Amino acid sequence: MIKLGSHVSMSGREMLLASAKEAVSYGADTFMVYTGAPQNTKRKDISALMTESAWAYMKSHHIQEFVVHAPYIINLANSVNPETWQLAVEFLALEIERTKAMGSQVLILHPGSHVGAGVKVGIDRIAQGLNEVLTADSCYIALETMAGKGSEIGRSFEELAAIYDKVTHNGKLRVCLDLCHLNDAGYDVKNDFDGVIDRFDKLLGKQNAAVIHVNDSKNECGAAKDRHANIGQGTIGLPALRYAVHHPAFPDLPKILETPYIPSPEDAAKKVPPYKEEIQMLR
Ligand code: FE
Ligand code: FE
Ligand code: ZN
Repeated sequence: MIKLGSHVSMSGREMLLASAKEAVSYGADTFMVYTGAPQNTKRKDISALMTESAWAYMKSHHIQEFVVHAPYIINLANSVNPETWQLAVEFLALEIERTKAMGSQVLILHPGSHVGAGVKVGIDRIAQGLNEVLTADSCYIALETMAGKGSEIGRSFEELAAIYDKVTHNGKLRVCLDLCHLNDAGYDVKNDFDGVIDRFDKLLGKQNAAVIHVNDSKNECGAAKDRHANIGQGTIGLPALRYAVHHPAFPDLPKILETPYIPSPEDAAKKVPPYKEEIQMLR
C-alpha cells in the first residue's frame, strides 16, 4: 500500500503524539514534522517530545514511518558570513540527533542559497557543511529539489549530483523530490514524469529518492517561483499528481502533502487543513 500523509504540527504537551494523532485524523499512513518553528532554531528537549507514547500510538494505527524537515533558516551554502554558516552546521548536527532520537530515518534539508557567491561556491560550501555533520551512523539527509527562486541551489539534478560527488559519507545522502519545485524548476511533471524519473535515475539513481513532496503548483513549468497549490487546482493537475504518487518506481516512499490551508466551508475567515480530502483524492 502506498504511504500518503502530510505535513503536521508538533506542539503542545503531546508533541510527537499530537503529530501522529493529527496524521491519523487525515487518514494518513505517514507524516512529516518540523522539530519546532521552521523559521527559528528554538527547540524543546528531546525528552519532552513524547516519543514513546507516539510510537505506541503509531504502531496501533498502521504508521511505520515519518520524516522530519530541517528549518529553512539553515543555509549551508552561505559563504558570506562564516558565523552564520557555523551556526547552521551546529544546528544541523543537533537536528540529526533529534531525528534519530524520535525514531525517524530521514531529515529533509533545503540545500541552501548561495546569496550572490555563485552556484559553484555554494555547492562547495554545502558539501563542506555536510562533511562536518555526516558520520557512518547519522540518519539520512534528503536534499530537497528546489524551485530555483532567488539564488537557491538544488534546482537541477546536476546540482544535487555535484553535492553528492563532494560528500564523503554520501551513502547517507538521499533526495526529496518536491513535485511543485520540480515543475517550477522546469521539469515536465505534468506531461512526462517518466522522463523526469529517467533523468533523475541517470544522475542520482532512483534508489536514492527518499521522500516525495506532493504539491500542485500555482505557476507554469519553469517559472522558478515556488508557490504550492492545492491538489488538482494548479498547473500540474490531479491526473499527473496521481500518476506520480502511484508510480511503480517509488512504491515504498513516504509521499507528503505540503499544500496550503483552505478557507473553512463554515467560516471563510478561518483556514483549515485540506489534507483529509486531498489524501482521499490521491489514493
Ligand atoms: Fe521543503
Ligand atoms: Fe517541499
Ligand atoms: Zn516549496
